[in-house]
Amino acid sequence: MLSDYHLHTPLCLHAEGHPREYAAKAVERGLAEVGFSDHSPMAEYFDDWRMLMGDFPRYLEMVEEARAEFPSLPVRLGLECDFIEGRESWTDELAKKASFDYLIGSVHYIAPGWDVDNPRHLSRWRESGMVDEIWDCYWRLYAKMIRGRQFDFYAHPDLPKKFGLRPQGDLRHFYEPTIQALVDTKGVFEVSTAGLRKDCREIYPSREFLEMAFEAGVPIVISSDSHAPGEVGVHFDQALALVRDIGYRTSVRFRQRERYEVALPEVWPSIT
Ligand code: ZN
Ligand code: FE
Ligand code: FE
Ligand code: ZN
Repeated sequence: MLSDYHLHTPLCLHAEGHPREYAAKAVERGLAEVGFSDHSPMAEYFDDWRMLMGDFPRYLEMVEEARAEFPSLPVRLGLECDFIEGRESWTDELAKKASFDYLIGSVHYIAPGWDVDNPRHLSRWRESGMVDEIWDCYWRLYAKMIRGRQFDFYAHPDLPKKFGLRPQGDLRHFYEPTIQALVDTKGVFEVSTAGLRKDCREIYPSREFLEMAFEAGVPIVISSDSHAPGEVGVHFDQALALVRDIGYRTSVRFRQRERYEVALPEVWPSIT
């Protein structure tokens, strides 16, 4: 059975549905386990798409409410944390604030004030040479995040393809340092169906990345990055078929920041 560890809550200001509604969907769709990983607060106001520190106690409460309502469904507690160079110590502080099952590391910011997946900055992508520069910058940060070993797994690799803009040619040279960092640190990355719902219409990461990772023995988790209850487990049939085709037969789960391996099912029903 599959799990879905990348679920948001309305506290991040751009998602909807109480955790109990996500849990209800997970039960309906046959998931073995879910986990909440809302966009982590910063110490001070930082941007308009994350929970405020003042709402953090409410986050913990909402996850507890989902647990209370679905006692047979394991409901894990996580956070999606932004990797920002120079602010690594904040992640260590956050990690102490609750009994987390896992922390997800994400690169959204490629420069101060520039979140790479925010359409607000799309005009910058059209400057000459910028797509290559964005990819360089993103992957440098992604590998650096992994080498910091602060997170249990890493979200949506190859997020900069979101808008369907990619550098020309073979992209594997962008992936290599990240694969090497995953190998060196025994890291885990996320296979995210969120990309299927974006302009790129493709799972994060690309097939080439997945092939390199499988070859190198890097474990995976499959997640949806749901921002609404209806997105829980969505397109998991496609993600499973892709990773199985590449050779994956297991994924991992987390409890209290310990990870363990589980077998992947052979097939998964599509959600209609
Ligand atoms: Zn989000
Ligand atoms: Fe993210
Ligand atoms: Fe997310
Ligand atoms: Zn996300």
